[in-house]
Amino acid sequence: HHVAVEADVAVIGAGPAGLFAVFECGMLRMKCVVIDTLEAIGGQCAALYPEKPIFDIPAHPAIAGAALIERLAEQAAPFAPIYLLGRRVDALAEQPDGSFRLQTSKGEVVRARAVIVAAGAGAFGPNRPPLNDLDAFEATGAVRYMVSRREELRGKRVVIAGGGDSAVDWALSLKDIAARVTVVHRRPKFRAAPETVAQMEAAAERGEIDLAIPYQLHGLEGKDGVLDHVVLATLKGEERRVPADHLLAFFGLSMELGPIADWGLGLERSHIAVAPATCMTNIAGIHAVGDIATYPGKLKLILQGFSEAAMAAHAIHPRIFPGEALHFEYSTSKGVPA
Ligand code: FAD
Repeated sequence: HHVAVEADVAVIGAGPAGLFAVFECGMLRMKCVVIDTLEAIGGQCAALYPEKPIFDIPAHPAIAGAALIERLAEQAAPFAPIYLLGRRVDALAEQPDGSFRLQTSKGEVVRARAVIVAAGAGAFGPNRPPLNDLDAFEATGAVRYMVSRREELRGKRVVIAGGGDSAVDWALSLKDIAARVTVVHRRPKFRAAPETVAQMEAAAERGEIDLAIPYQLHGLEGKDGVLDHVVLATLKGEERRVPADHLLAFFGLSMELGPIADWGLGLERSHIAVAPATCMTNIAGIHAVGDIATYPGKLKLILQGFSEAAMAAHAIHPRIFPGEALHFEYSTSKGVPA
């Protein structure tokens, strides 16, 4: 493993708290690398409610989730954070020299002298269907939760499960290149844009797509991670075996604490316990801010995460610049880099 990135502070999570931590660290001349599982920054605001207005951000009587994230990214931009997106931080360990070594799910190593965990309720990941031998079929790519290269499905028999936009959009997109597309949904009504649902139903009438409704995923058949059938079942127990090379499951995202539980951090009911004045965890040099951090009186609000980011940055400063006095300054007197 080579060292991909070195920075003063590694920020785990690109939600609102992580993004504002970049700004607060930047104002104290500390450079950040920000790592997030999602392909886009913004945490819950961007992934769960981009168009919903938030009413309790100071000085914004109403601002949509996505717009808030755009503003935070703009505010952090002068400090040129390095974004490593689309990868999870799997391991975090202190080194003999007091620095930290992080390892990502893409095998990269990140070195930093301090860490801010801004991981919300944990890493976003796909909801996985409870099926036999799922791990083996995931490992080979027979079962997938996203499509990064459409061409890989050319000529394949594809079963798509789910009733939202992803399922419908991919059914329409893949029907032209896949050998067969079967859409499995447990009820007739889809939760997707009516226009694309109508297109999918028209394609089904022309015989270009098979609709398996009302069916649910029941099992996977195949060997050594190579899929040959997806077994479907109705609630009454009627079964149907669909020949398939791939299953695409689109059941939405969920958050799980995941690897964070294994880093030796003091936890309290799936949250990281911190000292309220510094947001420091039980490990010196590792701080936690935002939804993941807990202490007596904690409010799980975005504005609280902003304040915690400021406290964590100030507490980390002496670690990055030992012996250098930190004179408190206002942003108005300092400005930000042009
Ligand atoms: P998050 O936004 O959860 O971001 C954490 C990020 O860390 C995620 O992107 C995750 O993928 C990433 N991550 C976690 N673990 C890892 C790992 N190991 N490796 C890499 N990345 C990782 N709050 C308000 O203040 N006002 C509101 O009106 C409001 N309305 C809401 C409405 C809805 C529908 C929801 C769901 C929430 C609302 N909230 C509101 C709550 C608010 O969104 C959260 O408090 C806020 O997003 C927390 O920010 P965060 O930066 O701590 O974490």
